[in-house]
Amino acid sequence: MIWTGDSPPHVPANELSTKIVIEVIKNMTTTIRTLLPDLLVFPALGNHDYWPQDQLPVSGSEVYTAVAEFWKPWLSEEALTTFRKGGYYSQIYKTNTSAIPLRIISLNTNLYYSPNKETFNITDPADQFTWLEETLQYSRQNNEKVYIIAHVPIGYLPFTEMIPAMRSYFNERLVEIFRTYNDIIAGQFYGHTHRDSIMVVLDKKENPVGSVFVTPAVTPIRSAAEKESNNPGFRLYKYDTNCYSLLDLWHYYLNLTEANLKKEATWKLEYIMTKLYNIKDIKPESLYKLAKLFQKPESIEFQNYYRNFLVNFDAPEGCDRTCKKRQLCAILHVDASSYFHCIASISEHDTDNISNSLMTE
Ligand SMILES: [Zn+2]
Repeated sequence: MIWTGDSPPHVPANELSTKIVIEVIKNMTTTIRTLLPDLLVFPALGNHDYWPQDQLPVSGSEVYTAVAEFWKPWLSEEALTTFRKGGYYSQIYKTNTSAIPLRIISLNTNLYYSPNKETFNITDPADQFTWLEETLQYSRQNNEKVYIIAHVPIGYLPFTEMIPAMRSYFNERLVEIFRTYNDIIAGQFYGHTHRDSIMVVLDKKENPVGSVFVTPAVTPIRSAAEKESNNPGFRLYKYDTNCYSLLDLWHYYLNLTEANLKKEATWKLEYIMTKLYNIKDIKPESLYKLAKLFQKPESIEFQNYYRNFLVNFDAPEGCDRTCKKRQLCAILHVDASSYFHCIASISEHDTDNISNSLMTE
């Protein structure tokens, strides 16, 4: 299981403390271990898994040390060593089905998160970039495949404009690394936005080389800056047990309005990705083709995508032209220059040609 972090409540800092944050992560770990005792879990730290929130430090902390103890049943001593230092680790996922080793790399992307004051003016916080490149180099030499997991995603936030989730410099560097090692990275999995979205990493020649999934949260978001919330969701991925390429996903959700009315939680299947969009798998090439379908005017595929983006949360206003532009640019353009180009190339007033201008890129 991949657990993308952010266990503590999103409340003002004075309502929490280091002690409370550690206690919350401990409770969540115990709950998961009690309910799913046989499951190996790969966790990642979120920006709220610290006190004060977002300020995850570049070397050692009470939180890293405490959490390393909680996660001992899942992680190797080697993984825990880097985790105690910088909140990140990598570990081989052992399986009997493949001769190819799968390495999980859990990044502490909170070090790159814009509100983190601890990492201002540091080019490589906690030496994570150096470690990541060395780890990927090693993986390539040893014919491994890699899944990247982290909390704060790469790329641009799809519900606003021109704002990457991370500080731009860090996003650029991370994207560059992922492009360089696209031959071994079989998937990327993030959280943080509370929304269900995809991104496709394109190489310099615009070939799709990476599938990126942002999984919505089990809690709804409340923010003055965002009009719409989300229903709770989680998902199952299907992957090739030989080469770990991604084949499909089943997304489940809870209709909160209904659950509150009935005072009962009924989780339902929201969609199966290949069935809903009629694509053959969820590898980069298929996601790229799907993104191209989204660009058509009145695209049914995009309407479905936007409904899933909010996890079926009732959104009477829908997604207007500006909203669609932001979504489309965020899906296919994870680096600054191509994202800016995408945004600039679609004129707000160009009512008829929103799709045409995108299709010619
Ligand atoms: Zn978060």
